[in-house]
Amino acid sequence: MGQPSRVMPAVPAKVSVFSYPLHLVDNAPEWLLMQQRSGRGQHVVTLNSEMVMLAERTPRFAELLRQADLVIPDGSGVILYLKLHGLSVKRQPGIEFAEALLKLASESDHHNRVFFYGAAPGVAEMVAIRWQAKLPNLKVVGVESGYHDANTEAELIRRLERLQPNIIFVALGVPRQEYWIQDHRHVCPTAIWVGVGGSFDIWAGQKQRAPKLFRNLHLEWLYRLYQEPWRWRRMLALPQFAWKALVSRLYGR
Ligand code: UDP
Repeated sequence: MGQPSRVMPAVPAKVSVFSYPLHLVDNAPEWLLMQQRSGRGQHVVTLNSEMVMLAERTPRFAELLRQADLVIPDGSGVILYLKLHGLSVKRQPGIEFAEALLKLASESDHHNRVFFYGAAPGVAEMVAIRWQAKLPNLKVVGVESGYHDANTEAELIRRLERLQPNIIFVALGVPRQEYWIQDHRHVCPTAIWVGVGGSFDIWAGQKQRAPKLFRNLHLEWLYRLYQEPWRWRRMLALPQFAWKALVSRLYGR
């Protein structure tokens, strides 16, 4: 891969969503590969309002968000919060960011080694096959499902240590994937680690993304609720977040 087309700052610009950081980078995949070329590993968090509300009640998760190397605006609620505070920021859905990162990595001969960890048995394999077919220069160095015993987990960590992938996608759901990355990133200190939630299920064709109309209307959450009604309790975080965002705008807290 050639050098980045423009100078990019080593430390990304930052705004706050409540007391949590959100980074503003024009081209996050390009920025991440630039960091990697300099030997810096990265933990990427794709932030949405559920995660913010989780951080509000969970000190460990709050600290994790503050320590993440790159926090990108995944959810519409986060964009709404920033709008209320006079900032217009483009939403970057986590799955689209991950796809862009895979494409950019596949253009490189040195940063194209990828590992897929998570989801039900067979899903990560399917993801690997599909991406390998789409991006022949991508090197999928390994896969592992997200449901296994302690022995497989120990073996997984040894494999990661040996393989040293450039990019490790972890699809265990929030917050398990973020905690897992926090606990294991030292195993591959120069890797880009990304928690991708349900993206493997979508890439493998097990689930569908919301149609474009829903996405454009910021109603992706509604489509998800329709597909997975059991999520209703988790989704109560969304109106709570919206209310809190409004109060913070009106009363500055
Ligand atoms: N998952 C997993 N191991 C677990 C629990 C969940 O691999 O112990 C996977 C699950 O199969 C799914 C993903 O994690 O592929 C979570 O997807 P979800 O859409 O719930 O992600 P979130 O909304 O939390 O980002």
